[in-house]
Amino acid sequence: MKSSKYNIYLSANERFYVFNQLSSDLREIDSELNEVLIRGEIEKIKDSDLLIDLQNSHLICEDDLQEEYLILCANKTFRFSNNTARITLMPTLDCNFRCWYCYETHIEGYMSPDSIQSVIAFCKNLIDCRGIKSFILDWFGGEPLLHFDDVVYPISIAIKEYCEAKDVNFTNSITTNGLCITEEAISQMNKIALRSFQITLDGAKEFHDRTRFSRDRVGSYDRIVENIALLCRGITDVMMTVRINYTPANLQTIDSIAVSFPEDIRHKIFIEPQLVWQFKDNINAITDVIANKMEVFHSLGYQTRANSLPTVCSWCYAENMNQYVINYDLKVYKCTARDFKVDRHSVGVISTEGIFQPNQNYYKLLLSDKTF
Ligand code: SF4
Repeated sequence: MKSSKYNIYLSANERFYVFNQLSSDLREIDSELNEVLIRGEIEKIKDSDLLIDLQNSHLICEDDLQEEYLILCANKTFRFSNNTARITLMPTLDCNFRCWYCYETHIEGYMSPDSIQSVIAFCKNLIDCRGIKSFILDWFGGEPLLHFDDVVYPISIAIKEYCEAKDVNFTNSITTNGLCITEEAISQMNKIALRSFQITLDGAKEFHDRTRFSRDRVGSYDRIVENIALLCRGITDVMMTVRINYTPANLQTIDSIAVSFPEDIRHKIFIEPQLVWQFKDNINAITDVIANKMEVFHSLGYQTRANSLPTVCSWCYAENMNQYVINYDLKVYKCTARDFKVDRHSVGVISTEGIFQPNQNYYKLLLSDKTF
């Protein structure tokens, strides 16, 4: 037997821990076992029950086992035998903002009533034909709330009711700039179980207002912060992610956002810092600064990402064959980070009857091994 090469060892305050990335087994061990596992001297373990336990937890494994195979198999299962469907819908590519870094072309179209029926039919077909047990509806744009009443609400209510009838777990989530939220919309959101939100602030107020403004609005920081508070108080079991876009210029000010929100809702807000992609070459230089800023948020009552150890058998949710990004014109993609004007990114189209018609790109992506 040998120690798994996916064990991670940690010692703190004279206590020892081991975590296995394949099984997610995390346990405290004594110093003797810690030494044995690190050195791979498994023959020194004489307790047969302990040996079985360690093997079941994949902390140790057979000498000739190529552990990479377990990851490859888990990845294949995630890709081709996944009973979770994730459908990202874009009611429009248009937006009420024009952020300087936005990669999208803000075409002024939106999902027609006929296309809405095709999308609903497609989702129902998917649930029935692929044995789906969990359905994630995910709204994206452009700004999806520009078409809340005529697109988001009718599709959500139809899919929610179908999932309830079929005993399928239903999750409704949205990425929105947060400007169009009203008390009336919140009441409708509760009816369609729209609970998971990602809303972006572009740094502290002075920076945000220079990026996120519209034709009839000087800045939007105060309104968006107010709307986030409305959602936190008005949506049952809200899952609120406030994404903070940072750049080398706004980085030092982002912790001032922490005092913008009232204390009673801070525990409902998960803070997600994200480097604006045009500055990705700077990421190593500012990692420590971000870690310090997140400690400020954490100390003031917000949720922040723990120092979690990834268990990486899939790289991206788009690897799941039951994941689709559907534009308002019914063209299908595998990723939202695309210029949707360019046809070569499309992997197919949803027919008027709600049938997915894949093209050559779809098969190439699905069968690609490039994540390895
Ligand atoms: S709010 Fe989002 S979709 Fe709208 S311009 Fe900014 S980044 Fe683009």
